[in-house]
Amino acid sequence: MSEKVQTIVVGAGPAGSAAAYVLAKTGHEVMLVDRAQKPGEKNVSGCLLNGSVLEKLIPNVWEIAPVERHVNKHRVSFLSGDSATTLEYSSGDRFASDNSKYTINRNKFDRWFSQMAEDAGALLVEGVLVEGVIEDDHGVIGIRSDGEEVHADVVIAADGVNSMVATDAGLKGIPKPSEMGLGVKEVHSLPRGTIEERFGLEGSQGVAHSFLGCTLGEAGGGFLYTNLNTISLGLVAHLSGFESGRLEAPELVAPLKSHPLVRRMLTDAELIEYSAHLVSEAGYSGMPKLYNDGIIVIGDAAGLVLNLGYAFEGMNYAISSGIAAAQTVRNAVSAGDFSKSQLSSYRHHLEKWGIIGNLKRFKHAPGFLSNPRLHTEYTETINAIAQNTFKGEGQRKKMLQLATHEMFSRVPLPYIMKDLLEALRAL
Ligand SMILES: Cc1cc2nc3c(=O)[nH]c(=O)nc-3n(C[C@H](O)[C@H](O)[C@H](O)COP(=O)(O)OP(=O)(O)OC[C@H]3O[C@@H](n4cnc5c(N)ncnc54)[C@H](O)[C@@H]3O)c2cc1C
Repeated sequence: MSEKVQTIVVGAGPAGSAAAYVLAKTGHEVMLVDRAQKPGEKNVSGCLLNGSVLEKLIPNVWEIAPVERHVNKHRVSFLSGDSATTLEYSSGDRFASDNSKYTINRNKFDRWFSQMAEDAGALLVEGVLVEGVIEDDHGVIGIRSDGEEVHADVVIAADGVNSMVATDAGLKGIPKPSEMGLGVKEVHSLPRGTIEERFGLEGSQGVAHSFLGCTLGEAGGGFLYTNLNTISLGLVAHLSGFESGRLEAPELVAPLKSHPLVRRMLTDAELIEYSAHLVSEAGYSGMPKLYNDGIIVIGDAAGLVLNLGYAFEGMNYAISSGIAAAQTVRNAVSAGDFSKSQLSSYRHHLEKWGIIGNLKRFKHAPGFLSNPRLHTEYTETINAIAQNTFKGEGQRKKMLQLATHEMFSRVPLPYIMKDLLEALRAL
């Protein structure tokens, strides 16, 4: 005889824990299953959390969540050769309360969030790899693992980018390499005081730094985030860059680390962690079927990720989609109907959270960001303009004259026009 619960959530990452937390909070019977012995154990992320959604879910969240630093400085650097041009935005105190960006340690954060779901009443089952779903003529009716079955009215697939659950339920195919990126992340330890001094931070303020021009001309970008006494440094590159042979996974971060700007930031730091993970880069066009009879797909499993280079919407979309799925399940329980027509309101809930709208609005971004000129000629142009602006020798050119000269000497006009139009359409 197999067990039965109202809802099974597979995966205790941000998406799954959010869904389980909301359902358990409102008295629903929910089982949250994760393959890890402790959720978060192997979860990889750059770790910049846009926390505004979490604030809506848990009002006093920043008093209880294990966050590292409150990010009030955002930097973007364009790298070429040994040069770098950096833009910085610093939010003053006036904006601090509107700015819910925090760096987190996924190991601690995922454990805390799954614990919140458990404390709210969810049954947390750890160390169980779900192999797929069980179905009858009416759709999905449960999950299977190692010869065991558990039945449920609804299964929520929150098992990440390689979702076995969504794939087994026929909602998702094998993603194409052109739609995927590989992300690698290193964690470097440094004393807390050194981080604050080196990055110009007061107390627990933090910085989020993005880099363009560090992927040997292939599509992708780097990141550096300050934690309390560590630095997260990483890079996400399109899988197509590995096919060309120019990029190699173990050495992916090497060009970024050897750039003088980054090398200085890492002086005396000790590498303490290395991890790699796939990430969906397809945006709107990469979304699988989001629901079917008895099943809903959320977070990375549903391809709900928006990587714009200067902004990464991943964990926040995962949490929002978990809440949207929980809202859908609550309505389905009230109606006593778990068919795909009832669960179709999930899409409407996702729209209310702004996720579908954003993915649609930026649907051309993945194509634009994979343009190789963006990662070579244009970053070189930016640095050449900066160099000529600041060198202060000889005859000075006017700004526009300088910019057009540097641009046209690198990229033919028709390509510039084409790229400009694509930029306007994409961003
Ligand atoms: C290098 C890198 C940098 C990133 N940087 C950022 C960033 O700075 N900010 C941001 O917001 N996002 C970032 N992201 C994206 C972000 O990590 C994801 O969008 C987010 O983790 C998705 O959450 P999720 O809960 O959907 O999936 P996941 O976090 O992948 O969680 C899935 C969970 O399911 C479990 N699981 C998987 N398969 C099974 C199974 N078969 N049975 C049981 N359990 C299973 C796993 O153990 C895991 O706990 C980054 C990603 C990468 C790779």
